[in-house]
Amino acid sequence: MAAPLHHPTIDEDVALRPTHLLVDLDALADNLAAIQQRVGVGVGVMPVLKANAYGHGLVPVARLMQRLGVPYLGLAYLEEGIRLRRAGIDTPILILGGILGSQIPLFIQHDLTITASSVDKLLAVEECARTLGRRARVHLKIDTGMERIGVHWYSAQDLLDSSLGLQHVDVEGIFTHLANSDSSDLGHARQQLERFNDVLDFYPRHSLPTPMRHAANSAGVLQLPESWLDMVRPGIMLYGVLPGSTISRTVTVRPALRWTSRVVYFKVVQPDSPVSYGSTWRPSKMTRLVTVPVGYGDGYMRAMSGRAQVGLRGQRYPVVGRICMDQIMVDIGWDSAWNDDEVVLLGRFGDQSLTVEDLAIWAGTIPYEILTNINTRVPRVYSSTRFPDLVAPSPRRS
Ligand SMILES: *Cc1c(COP(=O)(O)O)cnc(C)c1O
Repeated sequence: MAAPLHHPTIDEDVALRPTHLLVDLDALADNLAAIQQRVGVGVGVMPVLKANAYGHGLVPVARLMQRLGVPYLGLAYLEEGIRLRRAGIDTPILILGGILGSQIPLFIQHDLTITASSVDKLLAVEECARTLGRRARVHLKIDTGMERIGVHWYSAQDLLDSSLGLQHVDVEGIFTHLANSDSSDLGHARQQLERFNDVLDFYPRHSLPTPMRHAANSAGVLQLPESWLDMVRPGIMLYGVLPGSTISRTVTVRPALRWTSRVVYFKVVQPDSPVSYGSTWRPSKMTRLVTVPVGYGDGYMRAMSGRAQVGLRGQRYPVVGRICMDQIMVDIGWDSAWNDDEVVLLGRFGDQSLTVEDLAIWAGTIPYEILTNINTRVPRVYSSTRFPDLVAPSPRRS
């Protein structure tokens, strides 16, 4: 009889895979505190946790944010919100994206706050809540110059009027999104805020209380205090990465990620022997290469081929030839390396570091895309001195 198959648990998966993404929860907690300190006690902070918490892992980051007492969490999609509710997160959650009518019952059943971006959608929410015999919560979305979702500022009156007569819906908030708050020219961002404020005048004009107002993303937090209003919605800066290279660094944050793998193969390559698909690179003299089990299938982007560097034994070395789906080759010249040596793809090594910005430049993209592309195939490992109970077991290495 065949021996029973061995089914690895998640922890064993983490231990078996030589590639890990280490997430420093203390850095995230410090970044949140720095943001809160910048905007002051009167302004709420809604951390944005969409796209797997910008790659950092949705549920663990949400647990930390809930522990830190944030008033709200921001997500892009309904299914991200359902995942957090199933994980036991009961902090209010705003789904920032557009909705389909068929999704409304799920929003209400999971107590997720809906972005109401048109009169039709708002009335559909009212109707659905009435049918279910439950209350729905919405934030109205005003488009002041992004042209993504929301009613245009010049025709917002209808949405605000309709929002007043609802029996089953709580209109808790009203928001807009800035298209150019990361620019050194803040003219368009200021114009968007003026348009938003014109819409908001509706409430005092009708002697009505104004719902919770919010507009600022990370760049707004950093460069535009007039955008803070009642609540801010920082995403990327919570993760210690700035939204642009020319942005004012008015808040000090630090990155939370360290992405590492290990040498799985070592060899000597003869001069002129082409390396990897397409034979795009060949050494001019005899050299030593190591192979590392990470690739574009993990989010180590193929566009970085010919440009990327990694850290090994305290030194930087170039990734050579094309980046494959699951493997990369690194030229270590005539230096030494051994199987199982740690290879740093992102984060500190020795007294140097490889940043998300470095990877973004090599890939010809922005830091956001690097973070959100680190695939779920890469196991996340959490560390924290302050929140030990939020840290999953570390990888066991034998
Ligand atoms: C993604 C997003 C944010 C956060 O943006 P960052 O630039 O990462 O701070 C805020 N608000 C909305 C509506 C978003 O979609």
